[in-house]
Amino acid sequence: MRVRRLFFGISAILLTAGLLSIVAGRALAGGHGAQTGAAKTPPAAGRVQIPAAPSASQTAAPEKKETQGYTLSREKYDKAVEYSRTEYGLYFIDFVYGLLVLWVILRFGIATKYRDWAEGASGMRLVQVVIFVPLLMLTSAILELPTSIYGHSLSLKYEQSIQRWRSWFWDWTKAQIVFLIIATLLAWILYGVIRRSPRRWWFYFWISALPILLFMLFIAPVVIDPLFNKFEPLDKSHPDLVTAIEGVVHRAGMTIPRERMFLMQASVKTNQINAYVTGFGASKRVVVWDTTIKDTTTPETLFVFGHEMGHYVLHHVRNGFIFVAAFLFVAFFLGFHAIHWTLGRWGGSWGIRGPDDWASLPALLLLLSVIFFISSPVLSGFSRYQEHQADVYGLEVIHGLVPNSSEVAAHAFQVLGEVDLADPNPPAFITFWLYSHPPLADRLVFAHTYDPWSKGESPQFVK
Ligand SMILES: [Zn+2]
Repeated sequence: MRVRRLFFGISAILLTAGLLSIVAGRALAGGHGAQTGAAKTPPAAGRVQIPAAPSASQTAAPEKKETQGYTLSREKYDKAVEYSRTEYGLYFIDFVYGLLVLWVILRFGIATKYRDWAEGASGMRLVQVVIFVPLLMLTSAILELPTSIYGHSLSLKYEQSIQRWRSWFWDWTKAQIVFLIIATLLAWILYGVIRRSPRRWWFYFWISALPILLFMLFIAPVVIDPLFNKFEPLDKSHPDLVTAIEGVVHRAGMTIPRERMFLMQASVKTNQINAYVTGFGASKRVVVWDTTIKDTTTPETLFVFGHEMGHYVLHHVRNGFIFVAAFLFVAFFLGFHAIHWTLGRWGGSWGIRGPDDWASLPALLLLLSVIFFISSPVLSGFSRYQEHQADVYGLEVIHGLVPNSSEVAAHAFQVLGEVDLADPNPPAFITFWLYSHPPLADRLVFAHTYDPWSKGESPQFVK
């Protein structure tokens, strides 16, 4: 529903392309439930109407009350605010800390030492990259471990995660291994093109990285995701739900084959509710977390599915990829100029020979981190736009199939917000900067009031 993954997919691609800065390690881990804290999007949220006397209004008329706004008990409200604000703070601290780590690696000669070891070991570039990149990545990952650990301890404290430390750490380790492999490959290509084309390498690297990223997007659901969570065909455990879902799919005149619907056993690690669309071409699929099915009614699950179906039918993964590719084109161009400027200024004192020196990699990662960070509002804005479209789609596709569909959708948001501790009242700046979804309270109100049918207007997607 939050399709957190879509956003993570995008950020993972981005950051991977940025040669898997440490930040990237987290993006993937976070996306896979390792919840390493950092690049984690804060819970989707919104503005809440706190009742003047919250507990009173809750107990007053429990039945037949319409879900008109995101309403939390005083205790939950405080908890949601506290949790979200801590996560926002962590997000920014983490970014700055990540820069600091890279700076330390440059300033104190760690990068040049690793380069010397790599070059001393062999004259072959391939051997050098296999030594240099893992050393660098592991060093930064370990230096960044404290913020990752803090992130997980927060999600444990607020009962979002139930994953034990041993399992969390194992996920962290697996994420590092996956990243090391991809990062080494990309660095190998990057420094190859830098040596061959000192002036246009940013363009050639962009061109050559795209098919690799596309391939990763394609294999991720089949190869990478199962390293972190268990998936099974939804049909196997919930055939009735799949049949109900097929009703929704047919209503839209669409087809999503049954075998493209998966159940993820999220409940072993998390209490959160979620579903997402992932993959590309033959690996494209809808994934529903078992927590969603457990915590919501069947009509509500159908709405959640309708939202995901929106992402599926409207090709959001593909469009996201195109958007990110265009963004990377600009980012690499800027990175190219920035690295020349930076090395011209500090390269000598850091002991870096030039852009084609392995030891320049942390400097490039640092610059790309800054570029990605500054671009956050653009990427978040794009994601929020897609999420809103998916909400519209979900509302339209269950209309007429599920009785009182607006209320069902609004209540689904209420449940989602309560379980995931969605911020009832996020600061506008935070929404602008890093919300991958519109604030939950806004989504709820939209769901409750969206009604083109009674106004004689044409629905946007599902006619
Ligand atoms: Zn979504």
